[in-house]
Amino acid sequence: MAVRARVALLLAILGVLACPVRGADYSDNEARVLILGGGAAGLQAARTLHDAGVDDFIIIEAADRVGGRVANTQFANMNVELGPTWALPEVSRTVDLVRQLNLSHRASDYDSLVFRADNGADVTDQTDPLYEVFGPAKEKLGLLRDQMKADSDIPDMSQRSALRVGGWIPDTALHRAIEWFDFDITFGDTPETTSTKETEFIGEEYWMTDARGLKEIFGAVAGFLDAPEYANHTRLNQDVASIDYQNDISVVVTTRDGTRYIGEYVLVTFSLGVLQHDLVDFVPDLPEWKDVEINKFQMTAYTLVYLSFPSKFWGDEEWILHPSDRRGYYPGFFNFQAAGFYPNGTPLLLALITGDEARRVEAQPSADTKAEIEAVLRGMYGDAIPQADGILVTDWNQNPYTKGAFSNFPVEVTTECFDKLQSRVHRVFFGGEATSYGYFGTVDGGLRSGEREADKILECMEDFKACPIAVTQSLECEEAGSSANGLRLNAFLANIMLGLILIMLYV
Ligand SMILES: Cc1cc2nc3c(=O)[nH]c(=O)nc-3n(C[C@H](O)[C@H](O)[C@H](O)COP(=O)(O)OP(=O)(O)OC[C@H]3O[C@@H](n4cnc5c(N)ncnc54)[C@H](O)[C@@H]3O)c2cc1C
Repeated sequence: MAVRARVALLLAILGVLACPVRGADYSDNEARVLILGGGAAGLQAARTLHDAGVDDFIIIEAADRVGGRVANTQFANMNVELGPTWALPEVSRTVDLVRQLNLSHRASDYDSLVFRADNGADVTDQTDPLYEVFGPAKEKLGLLRDQMKADSDIPDMSQRSALRVGGWIPDTALHRAIEWFDFDITFGDTPETTSTKETEFIGEEYWMTDARGLKEIFGAVAGFLDAPEYANHTRLNQDVASIDYQNDISVVVTTRDGTRYIGEYVLVTFSLGVLQHDLVDFVPDLPEWKDVEINKFQMTAYTLVYLSFPSKFWGDEEWILHPSDRRGYYPGFFNFQAAGFYPNGTPLLLALITGDEARRVEAQPSADTKAEIEAVLRGMYGDAIPQADGILVTDWNQNPYTKGAFSNFPVEVTTECFDKLQSRVHRVFFGGEATSYGYFGTVDGGLRSGEREADKILECMEDFKACPIAVTQSLECEEAGSSANGLRLNAFLANIMLGLILIMLYV
């Protein structure tokens, strides 16, 4: 046999190894693409592959349902969202889907609010002079951001610094409540950590009021997976323990029950929190340039506490703010009885808690949380108020499949570093909301990252040697889009070496 023919045969063998042949029902554990995680990112990735005619994928999901952080439940005879409560921002895929599916929602009205002090006084009027300083300080922050965006030589600064430049010094409980209601409630973090350059307030936000829950959008994204012929495309209750990518042509994913999956490409969509806690073992360890970026980004803590009461003792405003000497101590409540929401429904308050207070609350028994909130509400509304007759506390921070609520852009990261966060490592690709530039922290970010990575994988299927990768093996942050790199070269050389060894054996 001529050498050229032997090489062709070897390449064909390599090709077969790289592309496992599936049974008609896809019930085996080998696929061209393994999608790890069935949240917004994973489901959108599946959809993008499907639309491109590639159905040879398996979604591997630890939970007993898909949807990830988009989840809802029944509480006090109501549908309540456990994760995202708002569809945002206004120009977004999520809002488009919400409209397309006619899911009911209502724009939040942040002017409908009351500030109540611990002694029961309504101190809303006292906020007027403070907002006169806060408004211009926020404007100054916006101007500084514009300057940074226009001139890359101007370094980023924290929102805290930018606000201070604008004259905002939050040294009273009322200052802190005002600030929390704008910044922490949006970014899930204090202004100390958050980047001025890379974060922006979004426009109108739509509070989800639909009994079906926001998760309904996934029917539109990946409803095709419900068809019987796709029954084996989603594997639930499969908790990924390790991702072994040392082989040049395939990746082995092993779950905690010992099941082994083999894929040509693997897309990891796990949250930043999961990756930061090293809950999944990469073999070999992820290179330092990747590990450093994963750990530089910020995973926020954001806890929702729903409380039902036998009767309503609060007013009709949509938001109830609690100025406290202790920053973030049960700082704000959403009133489900506000006009346009559920004025005749079960009396229900939702406490939104962020940052360290959220971490503390999630770690304690819910009875303690209930007692603390009741004490706060007694201070605000008097001793005669009824006790809560139900409580539901979310556990995103404790949950081993999320380890936090959503990502935030910290001041120490640059746009160029961000490029490394979403770069592949060999055949392992990275999606998930945290990797979505401009949309991190949102459902949109998840969806967009899934599409982005599926597109990359499709490109790599065409020609792996040209498969995009954004960075060198260094801790430097390069301009986005650079593609020449050591990793790709290494993989290419390894393939050639393997081919030569096989040729020599054959001869
Ligand atoms: C409290 C809260 C409030 C929020 N508010 C908003 C909001 O108002 N608006 C908005 O747009 N967004 C909001 N978000 C953010 C939004 O929910 C997320 O950005 C988005 O849902 C993330 O999608 P994803 O696919 O990237 O990640 P995920 O939804 O986390 O999907 C990843 C999947 O991987 C699975 N997984 C993890 N580990 C393993 C493992 N070892 N093995 C197998 N599977 C695993 C998980 O179970 C999960 O299903 C909020 C989130 C929270 C928690």
